[in-house]
Amino acid sequence: MKNKILSARQESYKKQIKELFRKIKEFDRIVIYRHGHPDYDAFGTQLGLAHFIKNNYPSKEVHCIGDDHVTLTGRCFPKMEVLEHSWFEKPFLAIVVDTSTFDRISTSDELLSYEKASYIVKIDHHPNVDPYGNLQIVDTSMGAAGELVANILLNSGKKVGKECAINLYKAICGDTGRFLYECTTIHTFEVAKLLIEKGFNITKVYSEMYDQKISDLETTAWILKNYQITEHGVAYYILTDETLKKLDLPPERGKENVNVFAHFEGINAWLSVTEDVKKGEWRVSIRSAAKSIEDVATKYHGGGHAQASGAKLKTFDELPALLKDLDNLFVE
Ligand code: AMP
Repeated sequence: MKNKILSARQESYKKQIKELFRKIKEFDRIVIYRHGHPDYDAFGTQLGLAHFIKNNYPSKEVHCIGDDHVTLTGRCFPKMEVLEHSWFEKPFLAIVVDTSTFDRISTSDELLSYEKASYIVKIDHHPNVDPYGNLQIVDTSMGAAGELVANILLNSGKKVGKECAINLYKAICGDTGRFLYECTTIHTFEVAKLLIEKGFNITKVYSEMYDQKISDLETTAWILKNYQITEHGVAYYILTDETLKKLDLPPERGKENVNVFAHFEGINAWLSVTEDVKKGEWRVSIRSAAKSIEDVATKYHGGGHAQASGAKLKTFDELPALLKDLDNLFVE
């Protein structure tokens, strides 16, 4: 039986969902992609969908491709697959999740393999700034790509197994900040309830997601000693390559403490600025309590959502302008 809350949400794109299932049926070889520098939502949605297809269509060959993550891989998600280049010469379906633009799709094979796909489906919850692919299912009202995919799978009448449910639950927890951010809705809770009903241990899931090492306290302590705050309440910390080395931290982990500034009166937005010497850029993760910071992120080679966006600086000299733009958002 169809769930009313889930059905109402997919009303405007149910034709596209039908088409997605037609394509899954049509292709024997399927690759699921997502964006680079993966987070819980990217990994969880990708793997959850892969488990679902393998479970319901056992004769299909399904692969998950993309870069690994310094801490999430192994602890929370499995290592990604690397396929021979020749594999991509035969027809295959590409399903890309949680990736707003074509150039953000990640491959672990030094080959832009998704460009070789016979058919590409985009499933995303970011604003559809780059409507790539042959079929798009985009719903920006979903708190996580995992929430959108969970909606589609739970309402499909097919089996949603435990592994699929765990991965989608991780995805949703990740992008809603454990049901904390404004993007969390009745629909989010409905989907979470239906996933938990598949029978997994919630404590084990949170342990895989959030357990840290005692050494991580050193990083948090450094940030609490060294953060700065602008005139109108934009808190930030800067991790230079030298500091990263001192803290024994790879640049991918620089943003991990960004939310220590959440829920303090007078702090309106907060960001981490991390040097990535290998990439020759500064990674920026911006969060906001209420006002949208998305346009500012877009101006600085990034984007994302109203309350959580990413950006990049080519040089450190761009930082004062970025801070000024953010600070200006909060001038009364
Ligand atoms: P992050 O700060 O990397 O955790 O990213 C926060 C949110 O913004 C996530 O939903 C990302 O997918 C999104 N995001 C980060 N960087 C970009 C970018 N360059 N373009 C579009 N969206 C981004």
